[in-house]
Amino acid sequence: MSLLSRAAVIGGGVIGGGWVARFLLLGVDVTIYDPDPDAQRKIMQVLDNARQSLPGLYDQRLPNEGQLRFSATLADAVSSAQWISECVPEQLALKQKVFADVQQHCLPDALLASSTSGFKPSELQQGSAAPEQIIVAHPFNPVYLIPLVELVGHSASIARASDILETLGCYPLVVRKETDAHIADRLLEAVWREALWLVNDGIATTEEIDNAIVYGFGLRWAQMGLFETYRVAGGEAGMAHFIKQFGPALAWPWTKLMDVPELTDELVKKIAAQSDEHSSQYSIRELERIRDKNLVAIMRSLKWTNWRAGQLLNNMDQKLKQTPTGAGQLLQTINRVIPSSWTDYNGHMTDASYAEVFSFAGDAVMKLIGANQDYIDRGLSYFTVDVKISYIQECHQGDGVTVVTRISDGEGKKLGLEHALRNDKGELLATSVQLLLHVDLRARKTCMPEAPVRETLSRLARSHQTLAAPF
Ligand code: NAD
Repeated sequence: MSLLSRAAVIGGGVIGGGWVARFLLLGVDVTIYDPDPDAQRKIMQVLDNARQSLPGLYDQRLPNEGQLRFSATLADAVSSAQWISECVPEQLALKQKVFADVQQHCLPDALLASSTSGFKPSELQQGSAAPEQIIVAHPFNPVYLIPLVELVGHSASIARASDILETLGCYPLVVRKETDAHIADRLLEAVWREALWLVNDGIATTEEIDNAIVYGFGLRWAQMGLFETYRVAGGEAGMAHFIKQFGPALAWPWTKLMDVPELTDELVKKIAAQSDEHSSQYSIRELERIRDKNLVAIMRSLKWTNWRAGQLLNNMDQKLKQTPTGAGQLLQTINRVIPSSWTDYNGHMTDASYAEVFSFAGDAVMKLIGANQDYIDRGLSYFTVDVKISYIQECHQGDGVTVVTRISDGEGKKLGLEHALRNDKGELLATSVQLLLHVDLRARKTCMPEAPVRETLSRLARSHQTLAAPF
């Protein structure tokens, strides 16, 4: 599904490890070069986190994992890669040296993508004979979950990069003009400076500042950005009214943006001590797991509203989806991994989530027979009127599962379904027998399906009559 089959990553720290994870879990083979003897251990930890979280974003199964290879030399790592992510520390001379080495050994049409937080492509390209090959593809930590990648550089290279990133579930954002720190880090640095001032001046602790974000505007920002939020805040009069109301404050000003507090030993100690008091009951690994679990839950809830990052995930689900096969065989209606948000205090899948899985299986059958969104928009659909679920075995976060479905009744207004949920070992986890009736959504009453739906369903149901139930 991905437009990419072979990637290389140079530098396997926080960001390099994140790219490795996104590539591998989306089916891309990756070679990695990092001279640090500890790099392999660190990357495997990032991969472990990614395997626990990334598949849970989707309601479809991801492709088979790509292959990971650690290379002893940079030349070997890049020689056959179509995409090379540079993720070495943020030092311009080091990055320029790495690109010079890479360009000696890579394919002429490989894309060389720097993860730099601050440097401009023109700085990275200095001295290069093929500067258009070097672009900025700036990701966000954790790279395997956060979709945004800022792209800066030569327009044709950026267009190729953008297409590739979309197939990897990313949201490529093309930066129109190169600038120090691109878009997002300029914004973040402004907030960071203010936060440092607030601590320096004894106005707030690190915990209080974080609370101002996580209980407040951070919640808004996950679903609407600065301008859309302020547009709403302006009421019916909108953006212009908002600017008029709060514009004068910009001149007072509330912020101390152009100054930076001096990072004296005293201030650094104060920040570190406050941060320890706030969060040291958790290890960094625990905080990463908490962060990832929350990110998956937040993004999954945005899927439900089909909004921004959630819409991106829904679009990706469509790309990952395999249409169930038709007449003469049972239908595979679900093929996915169980997300953490479907599990409960007992450590296994909640009753409601079993029901959700079978409900999705029913939806898949509806789409297959033509009762799709267009059909629903025309005022026709199926409603479930009876369900019996048998819970047979536990199902855990990260389990790969499938549902196989038999259409047991497809005559007239009825749609009868028998579903079997199994894990990847083939063990039966649960069964469901579901009866749906065709309805007129305007009259809120049952009615006969339109002819194409009726005929497709009846043909499928007849072909299933001779097949054994899936459980
Ligand atoms: P890091 O220190 O965690 O990792 C850097 C890795 O590069 C280390 O494992 C190191 O051993 C390796 N390395 C050093 N020299 C090398 C060389 N010559 N060849 C190959 N590997 C080499 O750093 P990081 O946080 O992953 O940052 C990497 C890049 O990503 C930087 O440009 C940074 O600005 C950018 N970035 C960082 C973040 C973040 O939140 N940490 C976010 C977005 C972008």
